[in-house]
Amino acid sequence: MTFTLAIVGRPNVGKSTLFNRLVGKRLALVDDQPGVTRDLREGVARLGDLRFTVIDTAGLEEATDDSLPGRMRKLTERAVDMADVCLMLMDARVGVTPVDEAVAEILRRRGGRVILAANKAEGRAADGGLIEAYSLGLGEPIRLSAEHGEGLNDLLSQLMPLSDALGERAAEIAEEAPETDRDVTDDDDAVSHAPTRARPLQVAVVGRPNAGKSTLVNALLGEDRLLVGPEAGITRDAISVTMDWPGPDGAVPVRMFDTAGMRKKAKVQEKLERLSVADGLRAVKFAEVVVVLLDAAIPFESQDLRIADLAEREGRAVVIAVNKWDAEPDRAAKLALLREECERLLPQLRGVPLVTVSALTGRGLDRLQSAIVGAHEVWNRRVPTARLNQWLSGMVEAHPPPAPGGRRIKLRYMTQAKTRPPGFVVMCSHPEKVAESYSRYLINGLRATFDMPGTPIRLWMRSQS
Ligand code: GDP
Ligand code: GDP
Repeated sequence: MTFTLAIVGRPNVGKSTLFNRLVGKRLALVDDQPGVTRDLREGVARLGDLRFTVIDTAGLEEATDDSLPGRMRKLTERAVDMADVCLMLMDARVGVTPVDEAVAEILRRRGGRVILAANKAEGRAADGGLIEAYSLGLGEPIRLSAEHGEGLNDLLSQLMPLSDALGERAAEIAEEAPETDRDVTDDDDAVSHAPTRARPLQVAVVGRPNAGKSTLVNALLGEDRLLVGPEAGITRDAISVTMDWPGPDGAVPVRMFDTAGMRKKAKVQEKLERLSVADGLRAVKFAEVVVVLLDAAIPFESQDLRIADLAEREGRAVVIAVNKWDAEPDRAAKLALLREECERLLPQLRGVPLVTVSALTGRGLDRLQSAIVGAHEVWNRRVPTARLNQWLSGMVEAHPPPAPGGRRIKLRYMTQAKTRPPGFVVMCSHPEKVAESYSRYLINGLRATFDMPGTPIRLWMRSQS
């Protein structure tokens, strides 16, 4: 299975140099002067065992005579549309420039898979720029030197799973899988969320057989429509249905996956016991928000916990819905118990929204819808670097990291390296010595201060070189 990789970035960061190295022939022209006339180059790259198509967007620079930002925008947007994955290069010696930020923002907004590399990273002169690269919000940068061929193994190891995923994707239902790290807008002084929603919000309803999944999905659909998936029963793939929900800023398009329930409603002959965890796992992969549907009579069974944990590990936003609330005799006491159990049994999803519903009567479905849309927003949230660092110094002052063996650990700088789910990097001395409990202290603090309940939060400690 082959794929197409586009190398993007502002002029002079080393795109053509990398292209040449990957393609192995001097197909692209390299020049010290930015913006020199070049043609679009496309070649077959070899990296380890991988063969793929690579596009050098440097050649597209000439396509219009707009201002640089306008040109970069068009180039980058074209690259995203053409490629399966974009490799954004920045110059680690120069650090992050406003044009780099503009390119990164387009990549985040436009969607698609992105790998970030800090190029020209041979030697110590690149250390500062490498740290700045995290602030582009595209994840952890690869330390690369296109000229010296360093970091290519790291690039390979990021492309391998992608190549596998693309191969798998062709065999399964390709376009349903959500991309991560996209649709994000940034803003200098406000915590931003509410992405521009190019595609429907992808929701999966998972839970034990008989929890009420298909009843719930049908109730959310509004009408008494019988769901007949395309060729249901022939395929074991998830069947989806798209609908519009009312939101604060107009209709929210939502696509729901309910493997088990829908197939059942589609009158597919399938044994109930097969419609369990395996289907749940599949649905989780497709979703942005996972609704774990519990039966109020038998809540938090091990199967429920496993699927919630899996959703967390896969980095999905989670909402817990407790169904059959109409049949519950003592609601107040039950709710208190459920909340307590939820916090105790799912500490990794602290503050996860818990909504009681009755799929049968329709009670609570509006609250469930708001909880899902809210969880999706939190999942997309982006906290500006300045606010994070202010917050970090407060946290360190209140409770400095313990000094193992008398050696002080200095937490120097923090930035949000990704969204969907939110991921943060803390630059520090001796990252390996930061206790797990201290990371938890920071994660819980992030949740509380920046209002991110229930979403998986990733935190990486990194040293500066
Ligand atoms: P493009 O405009 O992004 O395609 O950049 P080029 O590939 O034309 O490279 C611009 C300049 O950066 C050239 O002088 C390259 O030799 C230089 N360059 C590219 N990669 C590296 C690198 O890894 N390290 C250093 N030090 N210079 C590099
Ligand atoms: P699934 O296997 O998770 O898709 O579950 P179903 O939607 O097929 O529902 C299983 C059973 O639970 C059916 O008999 C439903 O009528 C019943 N059920 C679903 N939702 C509710 C509810 O909110 N209240 C009550 N009392 N029963 C429900």
